[in-house]
Amino acid sequence: MPEKLLFEKSAPGRRGVTFPTESLEGFSVESVLPKQFQRESELDLPELSENELMRHYTRLSQKSYGVDTGFYPLGSCTMKYNPKIHEDVARFSGFSDIHPLQPEKTVQGALMLLHHLETLLCEIAGMARVSLQPVAGAQGEMTGMLITRAYHAAMGRQRKHVIIPDSAHGTNPASAHLSGYTIKTVKSNSEGVIDLEDLKRVVDDDTAALMLTNPNTLGLFERQIGEVVNTVHAAGALVYLDGANLNAVLGLTRPGDMGFDIVHFNLHKTFSTPHGGGGPGAGPVGVADHLTAYLPSPSIEKKGEHFFFDANRPQSIGRVHSFYGNFGILVRAYTYIRRLGAEGLSAISRNTIINANYLKKRLESAYNIPMKRPCMHEFILSAKAFREKGIHAWDIAKRLIDYGFYPPTVNFPLIVPESLMIEAPESEARETLDDFANALLEIRKEIDNSPEKLTQAPQSQEVGRMNEVLAARQLNVRFEKIP
Ligand SMILES: *Cc1c(COP(=O)(O)O)cnc(C)c1O
Repeated sequence: MPEKLLFEKSAPGRRGVTFPTESLEGFSVESVLPKQFQRESELDLPELSENELMRHYTRLSQKSYGVDTGFYPLGSCTMKYNPKIHEDVARFSGFSDIHPLQPEKTVQGALMLLHHLETLLCEIAGMARVSLQPVAGAQGEMTGMLITRAYHAAMGRQRKHVIIPDSAHGTNPASAHLSGYTIKTVKSNSEGVIDLEDLKRVVDDDTAALMLTNPNTLGLFERQIGEVVNTVHAAGALVYLDGANLNAVLGLTRPGDMGFDIVHFNLHKTFSTPHGGGGPGAGPVGVADHLTAYLPSPSIEKKGEHFFFDANRPQSIGRVHSFYGNFGILVRAYTYIRRLGAEGLSAISRNTIINANYLKKRLESAYNIPMKRPCMHEFILSAKAFREKGIHAWDIAKRLIDYGFYPPTVNFPLIVPESLMIEAPESEARETLDDFANALLEIRKEIDNSPEKLTQAPQSQEVGRMNEVLAARQLNVRFEKIP
């Protein structure tokens, strides 16, 4: 049964909570609130009992799908399990009851945690310093681009463009553009990695930076990374790593060792803090030695046993977020890293790589997998061959909902037509991967025998196939009215 809206359930006079009125005797709104701020008509609020309200929200919560209900193979997004101990630690009153404007000496524990988290992220990525301020991967990218600008300005030059591969996440060109750069695209070759010849063609004296994802969005490690980095550095430009795929390389290699100058982390992906539905997240940015002066201000420093904020940073790009970023998320990521330790972290990457290759192997006889070589933490299927049967990647995705799975990312990266991008985080058991593979194998048979099961999917949900374009343009939460 569709859940009615609170407004539809409302009955006049029903209350969840009633307050004693004695203390309000003699009180009038008019006496305390100037006329211009007073409401002219009654607020139209739904009226419900506490019981109805509780059931409404509990039922809604049971309709949503998340990492706590099932496998979530959404490629690039690293929807791994978020251990619940993170929540306990983030709620310690020493972390949750403090205020960002408290004097430093009263929040030494929190500052120590931030300082130590920075040190750990530096070690993990092979970077000199990290700023914890940015609150999303995309904001980390923009911070990195502003650092790039500041660096070139300090060298007395103004560079014009940023080079970005055609397989990049859409936030890369958006961040570079917002930071005042034009975008030049570098092609991927037939093996799905950056085309070195094309790179050499586009890089020149106007290049500010190359933004690269490694492993890239096809789940492939850029093997010629050394040569890529050297080519860009030789032109006096910087190399930026979109570190959203760090889940694949923890403890195996480090961006700093590959020669990257700047990297952002997605703590809400690799370091297992809750995400989805727009946040909150954390996208710290790390830089190599020659760029530390430009990092956002303030930085967190330590003198003797005392931790403090240092806002005296004349070359800094300034603040990128209020206060010090999303502190609660940083506490969760810190807990994750400390619990796992160095060995645990590298086990993560080894296990996610095994998981992804296992799934890939199980599916390769039934689906076209354009990139043959072993993948890192994710891989791509292409549904292009089914177009002639009227089946698209999104039909497969929607049908997976009927089998009880969250769909993979579809139609990204753009360079593979009809792509389904499958990520298999380390937190998934082999049985789960098998169930998912079996579902996709069943669906493969349906494509031949009963394609309408795909084109009409999902059938198992209260709402069927949504008009996604319309839904994005005309927000109407009364879903029964959406055509
Ligand atoms: C998720 C992601 C981003 C953007 O990160 P947000 O935290 O969503 O802003 C950038 N690049 C890649 C490859 C990603 O997967």
